[in-house]
Amino acid sequence: MGLTTDILAHYLESGQRKNKFLCPFHEDAKPSLSIKTDSGGEELYWKCFGCGASGRDGVDLVSQLRKVSQIRACQIISEEMGIPLERLRTFSAQERENAELSGYRNQFMALARAGLESDPFIAQYLEKRRIPLELAKKAGLGAYTHTVLTEAVQLIKAENLKQIGLLKKDGAPAFRIPC
Ligand SMILES: [Zn+2]
Repeated sequence: MGLTTDILAHYLESGQRKNKFLCPFHEDAKPSLSIKTDSGGEELYWKCFGCGASGRDGVDLVSQLRKVSQIRACQIISEEMGIPLERLRTFSAQERENAELSGYRNQFMALARAGLESDPFIAQYLEKRRIPLELAKKAGLGAYTHTVLTEAVQLIKAENLKQIGLLKKDGAPAFRIPC
C-alpha cells in the first residue's frame, strides 16, 4: 500500500476494495472516490467520480477536508498518523517561515478577538465611538490592548510578535493602544 492509500484510509471510510473510499465532499452512498495508479502500481492522484473532487495525494485531501494550507495539512497528518513530515512534502525554508508567521498571526487574532469581549475598556471604547460590539465581532475586529499584548507575549513570545509587526524592534507596541 502506498502513502496516499494509507492517508486516505485513515481519514475516509473505505469501500470493499482498498483503493475506493466514500467521498467526504458530497453525499456519497457508494464509494466514488478512488486512487488512480499507473501500471506499476505507483499512486498518481485521487478523484471522486461523483462530484469531481480531486487531488494529488493525502496532503491535498487533508488540506481540502480541513480547509488548511498544505503545510498545515502535513503537520496534521504527521501529528495524527505519526508520519515524518519529510515523507509527506518538502517545503522551502521560505514556505516554512511563512507558515510559521501565519500561525502566529492566527494565534494573535484569536487572542485579540477574545479580548474584544473580555476587556472592559474595549466596551467603553466601542461605545464612545458608537460601534456596536456585535458589528465589531462580525467585522472580525480584535482588541489591541495591554491585556491582549501581555497575553500574546506569554503565548507567542515577543520575538515572534516583532516578526509579524505587532511589536516594534524595541518591544514597544507597534500601534497606538486605545486603552
Ligand atoms: Zn465526491
